[in-house]
Amino acid sequence: MVNLENLLDSLTVEGELYERNADGSVRCYACGHRCLIRPGRRGICKVRFNPDGQLRVPWGYVGALQSDPTEKKPFFHLLPGSDTLTFGMLGCDFRCGYCQNWFTSQAMRDPASDGAASAVRRLTPKELIAYGKEMGAQVVGSSYNEPLITSEWARAVFQEAVGAGFKCVYISNGNATPEVLEYLRPYITGYKIDLKTMQDKRYRQLGGVLQNVLDTIRMTHDLGFWVEVVTLVVPGFNDSNEELMDAARTLVSTSPDIPWHVTAFHPDYRMLDKARTPPSTLTRAREIARSYGLRYVYTGNVHDADGGSTWCHACGERLIGRDWYVITGWRLDAKGRCAGCGARCAGVFEAEPGDWGARREPVRLADFA
Ligand code: SF4
Repeated sequence: MVNLENLLDSLTVEGELYERNADGSVRCYACGHRCLIRPGRRGICKVRFNPDGQLRVPWGYVGALQSDPTEKKPFFHLLPGSDTLTFGMLGCDFRCGYCQNWFTSQAMRDPASDGAASAVRRLTPKELIAYGKEMGAQVVGSSYNEPLITSEWARAVFQEAVGAGFKCVYISNGNATPEVLEYLRPYITGYKIDLKTMQDKRYRQLGGVLQNVLDTIRMTHDLGFWVEVVTLVVPGFNDSNEELMDAARTLVSTSPDIPWHVTAFHPDYRMLDKARTPPSTLTRAREIARSYGLRYVYTGNVHDADGGSTWCHACGERLIGRDWYVITGWRLDAKGRCAGCGARCAGVFEAEPGDWGARREPVRLADFA
C-alpha cells in the first residue's frame, strides 16, 4: 500500500498563508488554529508542515472530484438548479465524531484513513476546470475535506475558474481567519459555514472554537460573500429549544437574509450512540428560527416540500419549489424578485433556474498517483 504521509508530503509547495520566525518556526494562519509549527513538526491538520523553516502546503491533486447539484452543497440561493463541480483534497482541522467524509477528512489523523492514498489523483487547475466545462457546471466548489487548510490550492483553481466564467464557493467548517478570507476574497462568491453547536464546550470536543465560527459568519457576510449556514441537528447534542433559539438570534443579528439549513443527523463514524434526527425536530427548529425573523430556513436530509422550498418573506408566495434537489417551481423574475409582490429574494440568481436535477456524477480520473 502507498504510504499516505510520503505521498501527501510529495504533493506540496511552499505556502502563502504563513509567517516565518527567526528561530525557524512558522506561524500558519490558513485557519483559526493559527498553529506555531517548529522545524520538523506538523500543524494540527497534519497536511501542512515545516520541514526546515518553510511551510509546505498541499498542492496538485484531488481526493475527490464530482459534479453535484448546487443545492446539495447546500446553496439554495446561489444559482438554483445548477451543477457544482466539487473538488476536495485530504485532511481537516476538526475531528467531528459524526463526519460523513471521515475517510478522506481524517487522513493522517486517524490510522483507519490510511487507505485514503488510493483516492489521490494528480491534476492541474487547468485540467480541473476543463472537466467543469465538460460537465456544464456553472459553479466550482471546494468541499469533502476542510478547504481552509488547502486554501493555496483552492485559490489557484478558483483563479482559473473565475477566468473561465465560473462562480466559486467554499463548503467549510467556518474556522477561518481574516487573512485567509482576504486571500480568497477576489475569487469566492459563496461561502457555506457549518454552525455545529452554540456551546463552546461541545465545539472544543469537535476540535473547534465557537467564537471563531461566529466571527467567520460575520466576516464573510461583511466581505460581501453570499453566506449560507448549516446546522446538523443531533439529538441530545444541539437540539434543545434554547440552543436553537440562541443560534437563530445570532444569525439574525448578522442578517435575516442568511439562509439556515437545519439538517438531519444519522449515526456515522464515531458517533453511533445517537438516534437519527426525527423530522419533527427539524420542523420545530424551522419554526423557532422563523419566529426569530430569519427569512429563509430549510430542513435538510428529509423529504419536506415546505421545508425545502423558498418562500417570499414579504407575501408568503412559494418562490422556488424543490423536491429534494430538483427544482419544481420558479416564481422569481429576471432580477430575483417575487413575481407576485416584487419583493427581492436575497441571493445570486439568473433569469431561469438550472436543470441539472439530482445527478451526482464523479469524474473518473485515470492518473493513479
Ligand atoms: S491550516 Fe490550521 S491546523 Fe493546519 S497548520 Fe494551518 S493553522 Fe494549523
